[in-house]
Amino acid sequence: MTVASPSSLYSDLDVAVELDAPLASHTWFGIGGHADLLLRPRTLPALETLMRRCRRDGLPLRVLGSGANLLVDDDGVDGVVVKLDSAIFKTVEWNASGIVERMRAYGGASMESIVQECKRRGLRGLEQMAGIPASIGGAIRMNAGGKYGAIGDAVDAVALLAHDGALRIYQRDELNFGYRTTNLPAGIVVWASFRVASDDPVACRKRVLEIFTYKQSTQPLAASSAGCMFRNPTMPDGTMKSAGQLIDLAGLKGTSVGGAFVSMQHGNFLAVNKGARVHDMRALVDLVQERVFAQFNVHLHTEVVFWRRGDEA
Ligand SMILES: Cc1cc2nc3c(=O)[nH]c(=O)nc-3n(C[C@H](O)[C@H](O)[C@H](O)COP(=O)(O)OP(=O)(O)OC[C@H]3O[C@@H](n4cnc5c(N)ncnc54)[C@H](O)[C@@H]3O)c2cc1C
Repeated sequence: MTVASPSSLYSDLDVAVELDAPLASHTWFGIGGHADLLLRPRTLPALETLMRRCRRDGLPLRVLGSGANLLVDDDGVDGVVVKLDSAIFKTVEWNASGIVERMRAYGGASMESIVQECKRRGLRGLEQMAGIPASIGGAIRMNAGGKYGAIGDAVDAVALLAHDGALRIYQRDELNFGYRTTNLPAGIVVWASFRVASDDPVACRKRVLEIFTYKQSTQPLAASSAGCMFRNPTMPDGTMKSAGQLIDLAGLKGTSVGGAFVSMQHGNFLAVNKGARVHDMRALVDLVQERVFAQFNVHLHTEVVFWRRGDEA
């Protein structure tokens, strides 16, 4: 525990507190260490105050979404980890501001549930997110997506809580979404609103099913992974290549280190068996990077976020 007197951070706030909290069960990898301090605010003012106090005390603050793109070091993580899983942060408002074509979802809301609900209501705009596990905050931070588009395509506005505890709303024309990136500054996505449009419910269902079926046929969705480990690189000749294809061409499918292995189905899915250590995964990542560099003269950068003690949050 590196927090000198943590209770002064939260004792008067409406937050659920867990000291030395295991994080493995909060991530899709299902491995990794503990958080010194896991806090789950129950109100927005509590979250705002917490942000201000962490800044005041120089404590790193990290936000955990659904853990689908995250690897927490075996030695755990310092500072404060915040999880937005209380009711207010999972709220989804349909017909926001009385406009049918607007939907507002808080940062901890489940992307999968929203895709299902859009399908049920006959709303299109977010079907490209079918089969992508995420919270709204995590999906926006990563601009999650794939072949059929990304979440940024449907975003109307984002409310971001900065480290000084101020909530600022970014409108569509201020936002840039790129390949797994956004221009949003550091901070916590508190909510986002989306443009969705009424459509034939049968057509909506068909589209979601088509996208999900494509994902299922190409990716090992049931493996303990975080989806694609590496970003698709730009090659020395300026073209973008699939990282999975390079890993496959380098003959690395099926390669393993300890309990971590490269999927046979998709070269960019690095997964773990029960009992694996994050150390194994890190060694496998290094090995894949070295081999791909040796063969193609290109460095693969990780898309998965690693949390380690001492790293800047
Ligand atoms: C089986 C599987 C398939 C996948 N397929 C895809 C795919 O097709 N396309 C794709 O893009 N990704 C895919 N992924 C990766 C993952 O689904 C996305 O990156 C997703 O956006 C992660 O969201 P999360 O809520 O789980 O974020 P986490 O993994 O919890 O966190 C990821 C990052 O987002 C930050 N974050 C989380 N919440 C917030 C918030 N409220 N405000 C600010 N920052 C926040 C975290 O601090 C961290 O830096 C897949 C993962 C799995 C396990």
